Amino acid sequence: MNLSSPSGMSERRITKDRATLSPRPNLFDYDAERSRFDWANAWKLLDGLPGGRGYNIAHEAVDRHATGSRADKVAIRWIGKTGERRDFTYGDLRNETNRFANALAGLGVRPGERVFILMGRLPELYVAVLGTLKACCVASPLFSAFGPEPIATRVGIGEGHVLITTPELYRRKVQAVRDKMPSLSHVILVGDGEVDGPGLHRWPSLMHAASPDYTIAPTDPEDMALLHFTSGTTGRPKGAVHVHGAVVAHHVTGLYALDLHEDDIYWCTADPGWVTGTSYGILAPLTNGVTSIVVEAEFDAQTWYSTLERERVSVWYSAPTAIRMMMRLGAEAAKGYDLSALRFMASVGEPLNPEAVVWGLEAFGLPFHDNWWQTETGGIMIANLAALDIKPGSMGVPLPGIEAAILRHEKGRNVELIEELMVEGELALRKGWPSMMRGYLNEEERYRKCFVGDWYLTGDLAKRDADGYYWFVGRADDVIKSAGHLIGPFEVESALMEHPAVAEAGVIGKPDPVVGEIVKAFVSLKAGYEPSESLRKELLGHGRKRLGPAVAPKEIDFSANLPKTRSGKIMRRLLKSRELGLPEGDLSTLESDEK
Ligand code: AMP
Repeated sequence: MNLSSPSGMSERRITKDRATLSPRPNLFDYDAERSRFDWANAWKLLDGLPGGRGYNIAHEAVDRHATGSRADKVAIRWIGKTGERRDFTYGDLRNETNRFANALAGLGVRPGERVFILMGRLPELYVAVLGTLKACCVASPLFSAFGPEPIATRVGIGEGHVLITTPELYRRKVQAVRDKMPSLSHVILVGDGEVDGPGLHRWPSLMHAASPDYTIAPTDPEDMALLHFTSGTTGRPKGAVHVHGAVVAHHVTGLYALDLHEDDIYWCTADPGWVTGTSYGILAPLTNGVTSIVVEAEFDAQTWYSTLERERVSVWYSAPTAIRMMMRLGAEAAKGYDLSALRFMASVGEPLNPEAVVWGLEAFGLPFHDNWWQTETGGIMIANLAALDIKPGSMGVPLPGIEAAILRHEKGRNVELIEELMVEGELALRKGWPSMMRGYLNEEERYRKCFVGDWYLTGDLAKRDADGYYWFVGRADDVIKSAGHLIGPFEVESALMEHPAVAEAGVIGKPDPVVGEIVKAFVSLKAGYEPSESLRKELLGHGRKRLGPAVAPKEIDFSANLPKTRSGKIMRRLLKSRELGLPEGDLSTLESDEK
């Protein structure tokens, strides 16, 4: 692999000598595969339920391997915080997920009902997600660093019927808001610890009593399978509905964008509470029959290096914030480890700085392959590919089966395709790929607003170059990306406004060199309250307690008058311009595009 900067051009390029790539990338001839590819044919890569009874994600991920030659192959190698290790073969995973599907049925949980999973990366999480899918219920994983408020909101919107969590998380985050979740009939507790509450069950006793035999009921590929929450500029979080048929896209993108091969040891560092951790931390590696490692511990650079070495990880899917944190230790830090098994590295979730791509070469002898997608798309859409040159700073090219474009429009009207190269517009995708969300749960209007004609509007601004590579420019709206997590300013503002001192709040993402953006709030106070350091601390604490560390503001400023539009909406972009010391520009353009 070669880093070059063609003379006279500022663009750098990492060239690949395709003849020497080993193993041969699954997607070797991009142009030929793009013209040949057809989603209808891609289904042939999967099995379908026996007897032509449809497609169920869990069958493709687990059972078809467990009943075939991969029965004894390790599907998931779990590495606990204390170094404990547990291997689950595809056969084990089939038995455990069967038990869980039976356990749900035993509780009277019916197909289509929503099962929320709130826990760290414990083995039970993987069993619960896959068992839920087998039972034709809907799995909705939640980030365990959410506080009570985001949890209650999501379970409420999703009309959660079952929650699987640990006693500790239940005590800290659920108990006090249980009355906000009237639909919740059952809570299944994983691990030890005393708690009280209605409808509590213990995982081991449910599983012990359940049979390891289960036949998946006929599953329509259009049946709802997963509910992933994401945030918009305004309003409550949106539940993106994904169906069982998405599995064909999980599978194909795992092959193409992550270049998964049979003997890979794969590590996706994303938390399953976010869509990457589900689509690529659970489903795509399993449908592709590889061995995944699951690391329970949170990020720590040295531990990550030693994990890559000890587990002989060959394909690693990570994120810019973590990569930047590793970069801070310098490339030298990698040198003490034997990382010779590593052959493909990918990154997603936020812009990956060109320096980080190049740093990969220095530290690992390999570049990071940036790729792009979002909760709504269900799977990777645009990627730097194993067989293609990398342009550091670019998200890559659309995968076969995906048509991307750059559009100019005025709030969905006067739509125009931008043909000119490197001209900024909204990134759009032609609808029709299998993992596209089928709706925002109970929010038809918000869903409708995502489309103009046949194009799905991503909410991202981007541009395209002469080679068809896409370059991320920024968001078209006010959502915040912090450490790869999408945060809706409205959710943060609402929580702050529950504090008795707060009259109004405006929340923005403030650029940060490591985590991309931090959540910053501006608050005006009610009469009778004065700004002070102790009030600031109190509000920071209030935010953390309500929202959890992943969502809470890290900085709060007091501001007597928050800037507003004529219709009374807080102008977050103006707050942001002021924060960054930028010219305030034409205020009429500052209202956000909402969806
Ligand atoms: P989420 O739905 O939480 O996965 O967030 C999706 C959003 O993350 C996208 O709409 C982008 O704004 C951002 N994003 C994802 N991948 C990339 C990438 N490779 N480069 C820049 N931004 C990205």
